[in-house]
Order: sequence, then structure tokens, then C-alpha cells
Amino acid sequence: MTKRKIETIAIQAGRNYDTEIGAVMPPIHLSTTFIRGNAGDFVYSRTGNPNRQALEECLTDLEGGVGAIAFSSGMAAVAGVFQSLSQGDHVILPDDTYFGVRELVTNLLSRWGLEHTLVDMTDLVALKAAIRPNTRLVWVETPSNPMLKITDILAVASLAHERGALVGVDGTWATPMLQPALELGADLVVHSTTKYLGGHSDLTGGVVVAKEEDAFFEKMRTMQGIGGAVPSGFDCWLLLRGIRTLPYRMRAHCANAMQVARFLEAHPKVHTVYYPGLESHPGHEIAKRQMKDFGGMLSVQVRGGREAADRVVNRTKIFAKATSLGGVESLIEHRAPAEDENTKTPMDLLRISVGLEHPDDLIEDLAQALG
Ligand SMILES: *Cc1c(COP(=O)(O)O)cnc(C)c1O
Repeated sequence: MTKRKIETIAIQAGRNYDTEIGAVMPPIHLSTTFIRGNAGDFVYSRTGNPNRQALEECLTDLEGGVGAIAFSSGMAAVAGVFQSLSQGDHVILPDDTYFGVRELVTNLLSRWGLEHTLVDMTDLVALKAAIRPNTRLVWVETPSNPMLKITDILAVASLAHERGALVGVDGTWATPMLQPALELGADLVVHSTTKYLGGHSDLTGGVVVAKEEDAFFEKMRTMQGIGGAVPSGFDCWLLLRGIRTLPYRMRAHCANAMQVARFLEAHPKVHTVYYPGLESHPGHEIAKRQMKDFGGMLSVQVRGGREAADRVVNRTKIFAKATSLGGVESLIEHRAPAEDENTKTPMDLLRISVGLEHPDDLIEDLAQALG
């Protein structure tokens, strides 16, 4: 059989029909414990649950990996990766990585002896210089949050692999639809499933998908079951339900975001638009190569500084003034105040999650808010 297309995988993967009563949609398993010797070998819900198993099968297939490990949030998934490293290991992070990841590595895990260097991941010379004999992991986030920097996964992977380091990609903003991170050379790909994979802003989750089921994978699997940051059966069920429409939602997110980006690029009250689909974006050529489309997220810097940025987010009527992203509804956020005191995000920057409302209505709303 030819390899199934991603739309088919999104709908069919992890689907196990109930043969007893013929339910087409799976039941939600709330039981915390299972009779010994059952067909699925389930014992206790922290270490395994049928809804989680179905979800992990689906995520493995979507990324074309060999195994997936689901966690209770994106940050728990990231922590599951970094906590599987050892004292004295060195990691390299992008200097504009998601602030939670920066905090985890530089403040929390540094106390347990994990060494780190922050670099501009788009500068391959800087990356090469930062690799040490004990570098075990190079972390990539592309597109990055909130500056939408594009990192060349293929190039980073070739540098890192030459020196024996693993490459982990936070692909939350691209989703498995737009960026085949494992195929491009990553060893691990992480998603905050809270965002596009869930897609409806009603669950918190995260996942790591791996290219190899090796000793490192087993360590992460142990972090899941023993660390215990596991998603509930209900959250797994809800997430799998969201994933079923991911390919079609992403098409519309990308199309709407492109229209909004072009509108904002031409607007006199906006001085910079960060959207990798625009020819003016410094990462446009790489994005064209490694992404199928450019995603639903964009950031803009408005004229008039912090006050002007605040004014815009308080005037939108369709765009809700809220953090997070990837849901069907459009959101806008004055980003720097939402991050910690170490933020490098400009004070006049607005981060926009373009939803699935009609693009004409979205543009009209931004036009009136910008004034
Ligand atoms: C939201 C986000 C995370 C964290 O995920 P949570 O589900 O909020 O824990 C990590 N990386 C990126 C790029 C994100 O956007």
C-alpha cells in the first residue's frame, strides 16, 4: 500500500473500533486501575491508559516517528526531555526560546548540574563555536515564540550530529502538518498540544515524538511514568478529537494569517511584521524550504511604543486579549508584560494568533483597533 496522506493519518491513526457494541468513537476510560492479565496489558493509569495509548499511536504516525510520549503540558514534555539528561551534560538553547524553557534550563536544572549556552540558533558559526565535548542536546524552536525566527533544522542537525549531540525541535508553532522535523534531521520533536493540536483552547498537553526507540527514549518514558506528569484519559480523548481536523484547520489558519500579515505590512501604524510567509522576513527562504506553509502566528511592532501596543489590544472586538494560541478563535497579546523580567521581547510587540473567523472580519477589526 502507498504511504497514507497526512489528512488520512490524522483521522485514522490510533482508531480502535469497539467490537462489542460497535461504537465508532472511542469511550473515555476513567478507571485508574485494570484487572491483571487484560488484553492491553494495562495496570495503572499513571503508567498507561487506553486513551493515552491511542493518542500516542496517532502522534507517532503524524510525525513519522517510532514512538510518542504524552505529557500533561508542553512544559512537562520539555522537562521530560531535559530531565532525561545527566548531571554535567551541556545543552545549547536558542537565545529567544520560549521563556518557560529558558527558565527551566537556566534556573531550575542548572541547580542539578545541567550546563547550558544560549546562542542565536540562526547563526551557525555561533552554534558551532558553542558545541563542547559534553554537549548532549541542541534545542531548536522554529518558528520561535514570539519573534518567529526561522532556524534551519537540516543545517543545525548536521553540525550537532557531527559532534555527537542530539537535536530536539520544539515544533509547536509549525505542527506536524507544516514541518516534518524528524525527516529534516531532528532526533526528537516536541509539541505543546495545548495549542494547534488540541485546537480549541480547552485542554493542556504536550508530547515528545522520537526517531529512535533507544536508551534515551526509555529514560523519557520513565520520566513520564515515574515523574508522573501524565494527561488524563479525558484530555487524551479530547486531544485525539482535536487532531482529527488538524490538517484542515491548519490550511485555514495559514491562509488567514497570510492575509492579515499583508494587511499589517501595509499599515502606517505598524513598523515591523514578523511572519515567515512575507518575502521581507529574514527566514523566508529557509521557511519555504522546510515548511509546507507558514502557520497561523505572527507578531507586529506598532508605532507609539508600549502605550500604543496597550491601546490596540484594548480596542479589538473579535481578537480576544488573552495569551496562548492555536485555537479556532483569534487572540492578541501584548507580549513582553506576559513574559518574565528577563524578556528581550520589544515593548511595542503584539503577538497575534490568527483564528478561523473570516479574514475580512479579522482585518476590519485590526483596522479599527489600530485607528
Ligand atoms: C505554549 C508553548 C510551550 C509550553 O506549552 P504548555 O502547554 O503551555 O506547557 C512551549 N513551547 C512553545 C513554542 C509554546 O508556544
